[in-house]
Amino acid sequence: MTKIIHIRARHWFLLFTVFALTASLLLSGEKHTVSVQGQTIQAGDNGRIILIDPGHGGFDGGAVGVNGTVEKNVNLAISLKLRDMLNDAGFTVVMTRESDCALNDTGDTTIRKRKISDMRARLNLTKLYPGSVLISIHQNKLSGDSRVHGAQIFFSPNEPSSKELAQSIQSEFNSRIQPEKPREVVKTGKNLYLFYHAQNTAVLCECGFLSNPEEEALLCTDEYQYKAAYCIYSGLLQWYGGNT
Ligand SMILES: [Zn+2]
Repeated sequence: MTKIIHIRARHWFLLFTVFALTASLLLSGEKHTVSVQGQTIQAGDNGRIILIDPGHGGFDGGAVGVNGTVEKNVNLAISLKLRDMLNDAGFTVVMTRESDCALNDTGDTTIRKRKISDMRARLNLTKLYPGSVLISIHQNKLSGDSRVHGAQIFFSPNEPSSKELAQSIQSEFNSRIQPEKPREVVKTGKNLYLFYHAQNTAVLCECGFLSNPEEEALLCTDEYQYKAAYCIYSGLLQWYGGNT
């Protein structure tokens, strides 16, 4: 009985969210048009949307671990777990990718062109959902020192709330996963195109080091991927709690 009531309550909450989102789109009158993968898409200015961006994908594998783990796969696995948690909590989630693919235009002939077009497409999604919160998920790698490990959260310099969100997520990782070696958040620089240009609240979660064999092995397990996704989820909820 309790479960039925719970499901109904959630159902109503989801219906309300969809209704509120539709109403805000209709009332806002402000429309944005962007190009994503060669298609023109239009959307209104809407908040409370979480844009999850699993780093790399398709032709771009990202970093490769000491034992051969390909970063793009870990990024996607953690992102899908985070997506499910946020969906269950009633958030509207948009994913830049939900499979092993890149976002570049099909006509791109060189790797460089593909990378630029892939990054532009991800940036276009942040413009399509200007009120959304961007969470990019990546894994780190450091050549020459396989001992370095741990999660570190980076934030975009453009929207001041990005640092607060990064700190909230970082403190979840610090207390739940790495209390012996807590880390500080770091501001992204010009070299990270997406974060340099995104105007949304935007954070980059480097969940661990693929150059550390122990952490690489952990990052490949469902359990650790859930832990990482939960730290991001929990940090996001706490940040939202202080911003409502
Ligand atoms: Zn990466």
